[in-house]
Amino acid sequence: MTKQTLTQLEQHELFIRRHIGSDALQQQEMLNYVGAESLEDLTAQIVPESIRLNRDLAVGEACGEAEGLAYIKGLAKQNKVFKSYIGMGYYGTEVPNVILRNVLENPGWYTAYTPYQPEIAQGRLEAVLNFQQMSMDLSGLDLASASLLDEATAAAEAMALAKRVSKAKKANIFFVADDVFPQTLDVVKTRAECFGFEVVVGPAEEALNHELFGALFQYSGKTGELNDQRELFAKLREQKAIVAVAADIMSLVLLKSPGSLGADVVFGSAQRFGVPMGYGGPHAAFFVTRDEHKRSMPGRIIGVSKDSRGNTALRMAMQTREQHIRREKANSNICTAQILLANMASFYAVYHGPQGLKTIAERIHRLTDILAAGLKTKGVELVNASWFDTLTFKVADKDAVLARAIAAESNLRIDVEGTLGVSLDETTTADDLAALFDIILGAGHGLDVAALDAEILAKGSESIPAALLRDEAILTHPTFNSFHSETEMLRYIKRLENKDLALNHSMISLGSCTMKLNATAEMLPISWPEFANLHPFCPLDQAKGYEKLLNELSDYLVEITGYDAMCLQPNSGASGEYAGLLAIKKYHESRGEGHRNVCLIPQSAHGTNPASAQMAGMKIVVVACDKRGNVDMEDLRAKAAEVADNLSCIMITYPSTHGVYEETVSEICEVIHQHGGQVYLDGANMNAQVGVTTPGFIGADVSHLNLHKTFAIPHGGGGPGMGPIGVKAHLAPFVAGHTLVKPGRESDNNGAVSAAPYGSASILPISWMYIKLLGAKGLRESTQNAMLNANYVMKKLSEHYPVLYRGRNDRVAHECIIDLRPLKEASGVTEMDVAKRLNDYGFHAPTMSFPVAGTLMIEPTESESKAELDRFIEAMVAIRGEIARVEAGEWPADNNPLHNAPHTLADIMDPAFDSRPYDRELAVFPNATVKANKFWPTVNRIDDVYGDRNLFCACVPMSEYE
Ligand SMILES: *Cc1c(COP(=O)(O)O)cnc(C)c1O
Repeated sequence: MTKQTLTQLEQHELFIRRHIGSDALQQQEMLNYVGAESLEDLTAQIVPESIRLNRDLAVGEACGEAEGLAYIKGLAKQNKVFKSYIGMGYYGTEVPNVILRNVLENPGWYTAYTPYQPEIAQGRLEAVLNFQQMSMDLSGLDLASASLLDEATAAAEAMALAKRVSKAKKANIFFVADDVFPQTLDVVKTRAECFGFEVVVGPAEEALNHELFGALFQYSGKTGELNDQRELFAKLREQKAIVAVAADIMSLVLLKSPGSLGADVVFGSAQRFGVPMGYGGPHAAFFVTRDEHKRSMPGRIIGVSKDSRGNTALRMAMQTREQHIRREKANSNICTAQILLANMASFYAVYHGPQGLKTIAERIHRLTDILAAGLKTKGVELVNASWFDTLTFKVADKDAVLARAIAAESNLRIDVEGTLGVSLDETTTADDLAALFDIILGAGHGLDVAALDAEILAKGSESIPAALLRDEAILTHPTFNSFHSETEMLRYIKRLENKDLALNHSMISLGSCTMKLNATAEMLPISWPEFANLHPFCPLDQAKGYEKLLNELSDYLVEITGYDAMCLQPNSGASGEYAGLLAIKKYHESRGEGHRNVCLIPQSAHGTNPASAQMAGMKIVVVACDKRGNVDMEDLRAKAAEVADNLSCIMITYPSTHGVYEETVSEICEVIHQHGGQVYLDGANMNAQVGVTTPGFIGADVSHLNLHKTFAIPHGGGGPGMGPIGVKAHLAPFVAGHTLVKPGRESDNNGAVSAAPYGSASILPISWMYIKLLGAKGLRESTQNAMLNANYVMKKLSEHYPVLYRGRNDRVAHECIIDLRPLKEASGVTEMDVAKRLNDYGFHAPTMSFPVAGTLMIEPTESESKAELDRFIEAMVAIRGEIARVEAGEWPADNNPLHNAPHTLADIMDPAFDSRPYDRELAVFPNATVKANKFWPTVNRIDDVYGDRNLFCACVPMSEYE
């Protein structure tokens, strides 16, 4: 028996040792190797003393997994899951269990990254392609994107696209029909203000009275009315205005597509295709437009191309890394989107197929017809004359109706003056209808659902006008017609999963992305109905559990960042940047300094920084970096002085995008503040800061946090994410508010940046659990181990590759950049070759060519063990040996294992392989580790140029796969 106290035994059971990859012994070995005595010593060597936080974070002590889960279950129970008839873009849905367990709850799907390395991502690329095909079929237009953040931000993107492509160049008005959801209008108005557009709201037909670059309509309108606006659309298009239509995805199964009615852009939420409401998110928005606008498309598009064997292969088309290339000229700042949720929605369509979807939609519509017939019989006045699933009606005793609704644990819609509303969904039953009659009419109404149903069947339904009934087929592709049994579906999901490399196979060392453990205990709560099934606009007293959770998380994050307040609305890092810049803008305006509009951005900044600044209506001035990758202080001082009167802010990343703790950061803050500017600190690199320093302490005014990087929310293959912002007190009154949900903060009446008040609220339990399970000590140790791992990998690799930047004491922070340019010069082997060759060794490539072209940026994170780091290092060293053989002329520059990587089964089955100057074993089993745990890339190197020249973004004929 060990000689440990009970407390010591319990300590051993804590989550910390499961989250941090290496145990104490392995940590010591690495410390010895890098030349530090302890984690504290290493921290002191890396982090400048002036910014070191010399106290424990006040976030409490770590707790065990069971204890953490029990506590959060207690919070969940304080949420009341009522039946939701609120609608407004959020509906009850049945998540097919085969999708729930095998996609949403499956690390093979949720721990993958954005498919920058398509050769090891063909599975999710196919699922997203299905999402695009589904979006196009339902919308009736020919080019779909791979998801946007939510319906309201998609509306803002539609407006921005309209401005880019409309031929009415002088027009500055965007028209919004007055029956568009209020949260959508809210987000559109916020965005329009930044761009300097005028938003005119009015009855649809008044659109023609203005000179417009674009107009937005909703199909069906917020009362549920189905408007046939094709003539209006045609006239608007004649006047060169772009017509955008927000559409309900389920209704489109039965309705004529907006594209066929003349819309140029169609978008909406795909939530009710099997993604829980989650108190606001996450869910995917679909976005579809005409092929001719492809260069103006916001977000990413998955396209079809060919690999080096000429086989069909998928990859992100055109807009890949758009912000990094086009900076402030990018179409949008969208980086992380909603891939996991887009995949869930597409699988929902694959599973149900066109006929299954039709049955679901018809059932919802029938239930609505029955409700309408019953209410009419009893003399209730309906506001809308046509409908798919929504009725708006007037009752004399509104308060009594609402009281009965609450007593029956049901929420009706109350936002439209003087009326009540009900939206039905896939989960509504005949019993629910009977209950609704009781709620609306009071008991004793004598209505019978079955009898009403029979009447409607006999008479026929006219609630969808004949001219609006869909006659175009949907989802005819075999993929949507082949996997309707659970066995087939299960295997389809698994088949795709097998093609993708995620964290459940090996480390993903993507710099600036922090691919750490997404622990199972952190993930469990998101599936609980108490978190998953709340409507974002439900009465606040039904969301007490959420309120406590969000407040506790905010308090933790305030402590961790050194700010005074958090705003939890932005649902991606880039969305946080936009929200933070808006707060700065409003702050200046509040002081009569609204003219301050210049944003300084160092050369090395992440591409979303300039893209967001542009969206916030700012003018961008670039600040140079010196040879070591640091902000050039002289240039900074000069530029700040030059624009002083108009200086709004600077956006810096800390530690820098080069993975180095710049010594001058406090000075940067001082210079900016002296000139009346604000400091925006991009918090993507918080993983090097937590428990060691804070942006607030450093002197910044506002930061976004990527909860999907540092705080353990998984990347989902390209989203979801959460990008809450922390602000100093003076900025707190200027953060995003919400038009419908007002919890009583000073910022309540500010414009919104997301559709839901707390963005993707249902994934916040993950970050809450992360902090709770690690506690102050575990958080600090995580940061220290992230730095230890980065320095260990850096020092090991520096014996074989040049390392680009180092900070004080020749250390890096939590990531390092290796420079492949000299090797490329000498051998012709590119960073791309190394990235693809790593696939053969079973690894995902590090971040390629950011922040410096021709380099790889490696961020191991604290969750990787020394054993895994050694495997990665072994692969990198072996690859260096291969480069040497190319350098030495042993292998031709255009025929070697690097140039031909990644290698597939097709390669080694090909008799022509015999003519290669290396053998099959070296190609696919280059070392013993690989042999024991082989990951097979399913396609060869993909031809990007071919794909962009022959842009094709729909499902490919099945024959292509044969
Ligand atoms: C990831 C990242 C962002 C963008 O975050 P998203 O959630 O993808 O929008 C911004 N800045 C830096 C430095 C990042 O690494």
